[in-house]
Amino acid sequence: MTASKGYAAQDKSTPLGPFSFERRDPLPSDIVIEILYCGVCHSDLHMARNEWGNAVYPMVPGHEIVGRVTKAGSAVTKFKEGDFAAIGVLVDSCRACAKCTIGEEQYCLKGMTLTYAVPDRVDGRTTMGGYSSNYVVDERYAHTVPANLDLAGVAPLLCAGITTYSPLRHWKVGPGKKVGVVGLGGLGHMGLKFAHSFGAHVVQFTTSLGKKADALRLGADEVVLSTDPDQMQAHANSFDFILDTASAPHSLDSYSALLKHDAAMVLVGLPEVPPVVNVTNFIFRRAALSGSCIGGMPETQEMLDYCGEHNIVSDVEVIPMANINDAFERLLKQDVKYRFVIDMATL
Ligand SMILES: [Zn+2]
Ligand SMILES: [Zn+2]
Repeated sequence: MTASKGYAAQDKSTPLGPFSFERRDPLPSDIVIEILYCGVCHSDLHMARNEWGNAVYPMVPGHEIVGRVTKAGSAVTKFKEGDFAAIGVLVDSCRACAKCTIGEEQYCLKGMTLTYAVPDRVDGRTTMGGYSSNYVVDERYAHTVPANLDLAGVAPLLCAGITTYSPLRHWKVGPGKKVGVVGLGGLGHMGLKFAHSFGAHVVQFTTSLGKKADALRLGADEVVLSTDPDQMQAHANSFDFILDTASAPHSLDSYSALLKHDAAMVLVGLPEVPPVVNVTNFIFRRAALSGSCIGGMPETQEMLDYCGEHNIVSDVEVIPMANINDAFERLLKQDVKYRFVIDMATL
């Protein structure tokens, strides 16, 4: 077994604390990664507190993982010891279904293996996430990391980055397209950076004008106060694409009214209460309402390589492991610009 230590939730209400556990012995196709940084995704908080009802305890959260390869199995071809490697939201899938074989493992028809809190396909033990010293993973589910990027800023690309990159690519956002981004948090700030980098005209929607300067710095061409009906009306029927990253309860209707004919609105935030949708806004525009789930292995690597070429990383606040419970509380108040990343050397 591979000894590991981390921070775990023991139940839904007590703070995370130090925890020792074991990972599987590495298989020939596995690498062992010494974790250097792990991002703090809002889903870690939802999961640790069992807000989605599928928690398994003890739980080590964390699925935005960057580290260094300390061991590469005999069948490993993509990595050698000393290389940097990254892991995101999934660490395995069936590898044989129609989705896995085209590199869309996140939609695996038999279910992806999440990075934490589900049975490992290899040995059945519960997967433990990246708030920990190391990870054992098949190289197929690990990514190479561009050498020029700041590693702490890379970590959030593995969830917040790919979750926004994938729908922007799928819906062919680029020059000549007007794109709206709803929400300016961990996901939203990456959606803004990518949409701007792809050459679109980007409008950031916000409920607080205090974020305006930041939104402009991150790549917005315009910032619209979504609570001001006049500002919203000025953009009616004008958007090719709207990326909604907000997970707090909110109305979709004031945004869908801004779509052009044949435009699309894509949801990537996961609200606790299903939204009510004004269908009229879609019918009379032949507009699409869609969702999107992270990205597959090839697209995640493509995204990391793109970030390397265009020098894109997440804006992060690096914290020591011991501050994770405080970080969770600040996350609830949206008091972070724009992602907490744990420096795992402090574990
Ligand atoms: Zn996440
Ligand atoms: Zn599959």
